[in-house]
Amino acid sequence: MNFSLTEEQLMIQQAARDFAQNELLPGVIDRDEAQKFPKEQVKQMGELGFLGMMVNEKYSGSGLDTLSYVLVMEELSKVDASSSVIVSVNNSLVCWGLETYGTEEQKEKYLHRLATGQIIGAFCLSEPEAGSDATSQKTTAIDKGDHYVLNGTKNWITNGGTAEVYLVIAQTDKEKGHKGINALIVEKGTPGFEIGPKENKLGIRGSDTHSLMFTDVKVPKENRIGEDGFGFKFAMKTLAGGRIGIAAQALGIAAGAYELALQYSKVRKAFGTEICNHQAIAFKLADMHTKIQAARHLVYQAACDKDAGENYDLSGAMAKLYAAETAMEVATEAVQIHGGNGFVKEYHVERLMRDAKITQIYEGTSEIQKIVISRSILRD
Ligand SMILES: Cc1cc2nc3c(=O)[nH]c(=O)nc-3n(C[C@H](O)[C@H](O)[C@H](O)COP(=O)(O)OP(=O)(O)OC[C@H]3O[C@@H](n4cnc5c(N)ncnc54)[C@H](O)[C@@H]3O)c2cc1C
Repeated sequence: MNFSLTEEQLMIQQAARDFAQNELLPGVIDRDEAQKFPKEQVKQMGELGFLGMMVNEKYSGSGLDTLSYVLVMEELSKVDASSSVIVSVNNSLVCWGLETYGTEEQKEKYLHRLATGQIIGAFCLSEPEAGSDATSQKTTAIDKGDHYVLNGTKNWITNGGTAEVYLVIAQTDKEKGHKGINALIVEKGTPGFEIGPKENKLGIRGSDTHSLMFTDVKVPKENRIGEDGFGFKFAMKTLAGGRIGIAAQALGIAAGAYELALQYSKVRKAFGTEICNHQAIAFKLADMHTKIQAARHLVYQAACDKDAGENYDLSGAMAKLYAAETAMEVATEAVQIHGGNGFVKEYHVERLMRDAKITQIYEGTSEIQKIVISRSILRD
C-alpha cells in the first residue's frame, strides 16, 4: 500500500483546497441557513473539471483516476458537504454509470454537458417503500414496444430540482423480480414528470433533495441503459463506486471538523492555559487524528482498488462504514472541544456535525455496509 501522491494529484488536491477556501467558505453558513443551492459554485466546479473527473476527455471529462476524485471530494467536504454531494452524485452515479454502461449515442448526447457542469444529473433509486431494500421497486416501466410508460414516485433525490437528466430505476417485469428492473434516462420537462417540494433537512441543506412523481411518462426505448433487465445490477454497480465518493465526503467532514478543533484548542484558554494543554482535550485530538488517518487509508485503498481494476465492493463498503462513523464521532467531539461556541453557527463545527449524519444513511446505511462486508468475508 503506497499512497504517495503524484505531482498531478497534489496539484488537483491544492486546486480543490483553494477553491473550497476561496469560493465555498464565503457564504456557506448563509446557504445552509437558507437551504440555498450553490448555483454559482456548481458552475465554477464545472469549469474546473470537478463534475466529470473520471470521464474520458473524448466526452469532455477530466480523464482522471478515482484517487484524484477522492482527493477533491475530501477537500470540498472539509468546508461544504452540500456542494460535495452534488459533485459526488454527478461523478460517481450519473457520469460513471452512463460512461460505463450507456450506448455511444447516450454518451454523446448527455456526457459532454454533464461532465462540464452545463447540466447536472440525478440518480433515482429510492422510493417511499424501497430504501435499504431496493429490490422492492414499486415504480413501473411498462414495455410498449418502442417506448416505456413510467409510473411511480421516487424519494429523497439529490439534485432533484436542479438536474436536467435523471437516471430512473423501475420495474418492468414483476415476475422476474430484480432481474425485471430497468434503468431509464428521463429528461426534465418530459410530460407527466413532476418534481415535489424541496425537503427541509437536518444537514447538507444547500443540496436540493426532492421527491419525484411520474404519471404515464413516455420514455423512448433508446433511453434504456444496458440490456432489458439490467437496471438493478446497474444500480448496485454504480452505488458500489458511489460509496467511495461518499466515504471521501465523510473523511473530508471529519478532517474539516478536526482542523477547526485543533486550531481552537490552541487559542482558547481555561484554567490559565490553552485547552489543548488539558490531557482530556489532547487525548480527544489524538483519537480524532488517528481515526481520520485510518479512514483515509481505507478510502484511498478503495479508490486504488477501483483504479487497478480490482473488485472494490468490500473495500468501498469498509471505507464508507468507517469514514461515516468517524465523521459523526469526530464532528461531535469537535463541537465538544468548542464548548458553547461549538453550538452556534459562526464556528462551522455544528454544521459539520449535522452534515456528518447523512453519510451514515445515504448510498447504503452503516447497517447495510455491515451486511455487504459480512457477506463478503463469510463468502471468502
Ligand atoms: C439527504 C438525502 C439524500 C438522498 N439522495 C438520494 C439519491 O440521490 N438517490 C436515491 O436513490 N436515494 C437517495 N437517498 C435515499 C437514501 O439512500 C435512503 O434514505 C437510504 O438508503 C435508507 O433507506 P430508507 O430511508 O428507506 O431507510 P430504511 O431502509 O427504512 O431503513 C431504516 C433503518 O433500518 C435499517 N435497516 C434496514 N434494513 C436492514 C437490515 N436488513 N438489517 C439491519 N438494519 C436494516 C437501516 O439501516 C436504517 O437504520 C437520499 C436520502 C437522503 C436523506
